[in-house]
This record gives sequence, C-alpha cells and structure tokens, in this order.
Amino acid sequence: MAYDFDLFVIGAGSGGVRAARFAAGFGAKVAVAESRYLGGTCVNVGCVPKKLLVYGAHVADELEQAAGFGWTLEEGHFDWGTLIANKNREIERLNGIYRNLLVNSGVTLLTGHARITGANEVEVEGQRYSAANILIATGGWPQVPDIPGKELAITSNEAFYLKDLPRRVLVVGGGYIAVEFAGIFQGLGAATTLLYRGDLFLRGFDGSVRTHLKEELEKRGMDLQFNADIQRIDKLDDGSLKATLKDGRELVADCVFYATGRRPMLDNLGLENTGVELDERGFIRVDEQYQTTAPSILAIGDVIGRVQLTPVALAEGMAVARRLFKPEQYRPVDYQNIPTAVFSQPPIGTVGLTEEQALQAGHKVQIFESRFRAMKLTLTDIQEKTLMKLVVDAETDKVLGCHMVGPDAGEIIQGLGIALKAGATKLQFDETIGVHPTAAEEFVTMRTVTR
Ligand code: FAD
Ligand code: NDP
Repeated sequence: MAYDFDLFVIGAGSGGVRAARFAAGFGAKVAVAESRYLGGTCVNVGCVPKKLLVYGAHVADELEQAAGFGWTLEEGHFDWGTLIANKNREIERLNGIYRNLLVNSGVTLLTGHARITGANEVEVEGQRYSAANILIATGGWPQVPDIPGKELAITSNEAFYLKDLPRRVLVVGGGYIAVEFAGIFQGLGAATTLLYRGDLFLRGFDGSVRTHLKEELEKRGMDLQFNADIQRIDKLDDGSLKATLKDGRELVADCVFYATGRRPMLDNLGLENTGVELDERGFIRVDEQYQTTAPSILAIGDVIGRVQLTPVALAEGMAVARRLFKPEQYRPVDYQNIPTAVFSQPPIGTVGLTEEQALQAGHKVQIFESRFRAMKLTLTDIQEKTLMKLVVDAETDKVLGCHMVGPDAGEIIQGLGIALKAGATKLQFDETIGVHPTAAEEFVTMRTVTR
C-alpha cells in the first residue's frame, strides 16, 4: 500500500526534529506535526531559556567578586523584564532556525495538534495523513500533586514568562528543576526557600555531591527545608500566598513554584485507537529499538521516560532514523555513563556510578575526594568550596564515576565522560598531564585515597 509518508513524527522537539531531519536526509518522505513551539521543551521552556536565566543569576557572583580584583562598581540594578524580553528574542530566533532546519531538509511541517486515528493514520487540523511509520515524540509536561490550591502554584512553564521577579519564592521539589530554579530566583535577588519531602535533595546523585551542594546553598543564604511538604495553598487578601505544610507550619510567599517531576504528554493523542501500551509508570512502553506494542508506531524521548535529557532524545531520534532508513549505520544508544549537569549555583557535573551505586553493584571501591577554594576566590572574601570526587574500582583500577560541584562543572565533566566511555583507569588519569592553573587539573592530581 502506498502511504502519504514513510515516517510521520508527532512533536518537533529535541527527539522528533532529530529523527525527522535525518530520516529525510536518508531519503525518506517525512512529515512532522507540532502543536505548540518548534524545538520543543528544551528550546522554549527548558534547557536553553533555563541556562540563559542561570547566566543572568550568575552575574551576581561576578559582581560580588569584582571588588577583590580592584573594580569599583556602582550599585547594580537588575531588571527582570529586560532579561525575559532578551531571552524571548533569542528563543524566537531559535524557533526560526528549527523551522529552516526542517524545511531545508525536505520535511513537511504541519502546524497543529496531531491525533493518531489508526495504526498508520494521523489527523492534524481535520486532515488525515497515512504513514508507514508513526513516531511519537511528544515529550513531557510538569506534574503538580493534587492539593487544595494547586492552581495558585506555577511550574517551570510559567516561570519563564513571569511579568515580575517574585520577592519571596517557595520552590517545591528536590530534583534538577527545583535546584536550578531555586538558584535562579535566589541569584536574581528573591528570598528563596526550597522545600523537599525527603531528608536530602537530589536523590540518586552521589552522597558527597548532595551534602556539598546543601552546604554551599546554605552559605549563600538559601532557606533549605527538608522533610517538608505542602498540604494546601491559600491566597491572602494582599495577594500573597500562604502555604500550609503537613507539619502545620505556615509559610507566606509571592510565588509557589512546583518542580515535582514530569508526566508523559499523551493528551488527546488517540492512543486508544492503537495497540500502544503504557508501562507501570504511565510512559509509553517500547522495546530496545523504540518500537511500541503496535508494530508501526515508535516512541522516543521524554514520552518513554527512560532518561529525560535532550542529548538522550537526540541519540534516540538518530537511532530510529537509522534503524528505519539506514539500517547498515544503526547503533543502539548507550545508556551507560551518560554525563549530566545540574545548573545550580554552584553547578554539579557528574558521570558514571555514584559511590552508593558502585558499592551496591558489588564493587570494592577506592574514593578520591578533594575540597578546595577555587583560585579565583582567593582575592575575595567568598568562602565557597569546590568538590571533586572519583569513584575507582579497587580491583581493576577502572574509574567508575566522576563527580564535581563547582564552577564550570558541566563543561569539565563532558571530557571526563569520554574518558569513562573509553574505560579509563585511575593510573591513566594520574598519567594525564594537568592543565595548570585550572580547577579541572584536580581530577588528574588526586593521589591519596580518602577512603
Ligand atoms: P520535547 O522537547 O518536549 O518535544 C515534544 C514536542 O511535542 C513539543 O514541542 C510539544 O509541543 C509537541 N507535542 C506534544 N503533543 C503533541 C501533539 N499531540 N501533536 C503535535 N505536537 C505535540 N535536558 C538537558 O539535557 N539539559 C538541560 O539543561 C535541561 N534543562 C531542562 C529544564 C527544564 C525546565 C525542563 C522542563 C527540561 C529540561 N531538560 C534538560 C529536559 C529536556 O528539555 C527534555 O529531555 C527534552 O526536551 C525531551 O525531548 P523530547 O523530544 O522527548 O520532547
Ligand atoms: P525530577 O524527577 O528530577 O525531580 C522531581 C522531584 O520532585 C524529586 O525531588 C521528587 O522527590 C519530588 N517529588 C515528586 N513527586 C512529589 C510530590 N508528590 N510531592 C513532593 N515532591 C515530589 O523532576 P524535575 O521536575 O526536576 O525534572 C524533570 C526531568 O527533566 C529531570 O529528571 C531531568 O531528567 C530533566 N531535566 C534536566 C536538566 C539538566 O539536564 N540540567 C534540568 C532540568 C530538567 P523524590 O526524590 O523524593 O522522589
């Protein structure tokens, strides 16, 4: 049977655009439907605008350090409206780039909500299209617990478009987004409280990293409240918000920001017309090659809930394009040793196993840990410490994990990701000549086993 398209991609986000462009490049006839914004979450309400706001908040650090280097600056003034307007302009520019990327690679771009109407059929704006393969790349959406007053809270989606910087913010959650936005709000001058339901935020990260970041955020004056959860939110007469905690305490703020995870975006997608099954967490179930339980339908990215990171969605999109249209070049995505950064202030960079994971996996480990005050701070009064840590297998000498909290951690960890992928040993780290004077050289000069 002749189909309108070889591949119909739903969602022009990180994964969808990558799959569509490369499939078209391999000679396939491809359509992409996008209902909201080109480039998806990452470009519009994720990685990119977040990083721009992080840069904005970081300027406060630079200003604080300036005096030590002899600079006298007039009292600084921050204008949220300018930052947001400039950020919006950049996002619009990127939207245009994404449009060109798709169109120039020969992809048919359809604007509107896509709904699957059959195993090989998708409807967009009342028009039906047939396709040999359908790729679901619809991403995720913030999830807020169902508490009274939840409609008074905002999520990352709204935070990027706030008219004013709130004076007092309660950030709820202890994952990437909560920690990053708490740093943005705090850095830009809002009195910021972070509430996390457990004992210590960033569950799943290395224990030393979690403790170190907690100490550094406290030094910066952030109010961290662990074992704390909101029961209800009420609006007060003066427009501020009162959060009543489960332990009865009441906190008042101008903004309550929830970052309590993201659900798969399946709204009105028409999955009931297909044999696509969900897994126990509600994400789309796929096999190793991203095929759903319906043979003609595939899924990648946040909607499969494997690793919710843009570079992972890109790799999955590439794998699907190759698998379908260039099988001789197909390579499975390697989910081991994915480097990642949390753009907190200071940031975290991490790759490989945490100490806890290494022990749990049965490794006999040697830990190398270093805490130091970065050279840049020695002319200032700032007492922030950088943490670097290596988790090494004591029997094979292989480096199992690298972890860092400190300036440029994301930039530094990328290179270490290559080393770990290549299977580097501690001896090879030791034999690597350092770049002096940098903080990064500490990763090749840690000689004494901490434990
Ligand atoms: P998305 O990029 O979400 O794209 C899905 C697209 O599908 C959207 O454009 C949506 O409008 C569209 N769509 C949905 N349903 C339909 C439909 N029925 N019809 C038509 N179109 C539809 N990752 C990092 O690696 N680094 C970071 O620093 C980082 N920061 C982040 C910060 C925040 C605040 C958030 C929320 C996420 C961040 N992420 C980051 C995660 C990253 O954004 C996601 O992992 C990535 O965007 C997932 O790509 P995707 O292709 O699966 O989905
Ligand atoms: P995460 O899954 O990272 O964190 C969710 C947090 O919310 C956890 O601390 C969790 O606690 C807590 N939580 C969950 N449910 C509730 C609840 N009902 N009440 C109170 N707390 C709750 O999600 P995020 O929203 O922070 O981010 C989504 C994903 O986006 C990330 O996992 C990451 O993959 C990606 N991302 C990546 C970034 C980067 O690369 N720099 C930046 C931002 C996002 P607990 O741990 O106890 O379950």
